Amino acid sequence: MNANRYGGGGRWFKGNTHIHSTASDGGKTFAELEAMYAGRGYDFLFRTDHWIASDVRADPRVARKLLWMDGVELDGQDSCGSMYHVVCLGRFRGLSRKMGFENGLKAARRQGGLLILAHPLWMGNTPEDVWRWKFDGVEVYNYVCQWLNGKGDNLAYWHFGLSRQPGMLAFAADDAHITANHPGWNGAWIMVNARVRTPKAILDAIRRGRYYSSCGPVFHDIAVHGDTVAIRTSPVRFARLVGPDANGCQCGSFHGKLMTEATFSRPADWRYAYVEIEDSRGRRAWTNTL
Ligand SMILES: [Zn+2]
Ligand SMILES: [Zn+2]
Repeated sequence: MNANRYGGGGRWFKGNTHIHSTASDGGKTFAELEAMYAGRGYDFLFRTDHWIASDVRADPRVARKLLWMDGVELDGQDSCGSMYHVVCLGRFRGLSRKMGFENGLKAARRQGGLLILAHPLWMGNTPEDVWRWKFDGVEVYNYVCQWLNGKGDNLAYWHFGLSRQPGMLAFAADDAHITANHPGWNGAWIMVNARVRTPKAILDAIRRGRYYSSCGPVFHDIAVHGDTVAIRTSPVRFARLVGPDANGCQCGSFHGKLMTEATFSRPADWRYAYVEIEDSRGRRAWTNTL
């Protein structure tokens, strides 16, 4: 089981791990994205254009309104015939669509990338597809896919992953393109707990799962002491400690007052557990496994 992911002190930094620009099929330049996202309180953004490994340090006009970080989105078919989109966080060399999806994925992993299975429901992926490549994380929620055809929710895929990799990370992401066909942004993000806002500190915290994913609600505090999990949040209608299969505990009610704190006792026989909160508009947020 993981060491306590949320006990480090530090500050919360808002960011997005999945964004497209005019460098691939997005509608906004990096400068426009920076102004838009910084205006909504973002601290960092990853550049994840299709098959274009970004190199932030080589960009002469990287401004300082927020921290840009390197990444890429790979897509294609693996040797079993499954179609994938995979967001890779990190700085990569030598990736090109010509090498094919599987070679690209292996190259990104060799170079230390953090590999996130993107929008698996929208792709029609199977549980076997989740397990085959041992991804570091899965997008539990993809805002643009939700807008496109209501297939943004990938919670089931995270559970498929957790059944074999109890530390697998969850990511809520915009996948923002900001075009007429893909207009959404600032609908799903992560909040990273780190001491400083540097590329190394942010990526290291993400690797260790020291963040939560949200479509709206806020975790002010996530405290784990032994079997006890205590949270303080923005006003929410429900809080749930979620485990494998049918296991779960709930606080809240359909008709009662909103609440801002909850405490759970985590059963010893659960292979993994995380907390989900849900606000009065049905928007949710998720910790990583505790
Ligand atoms: Zn994609
Ligand atoms: Zn994408």
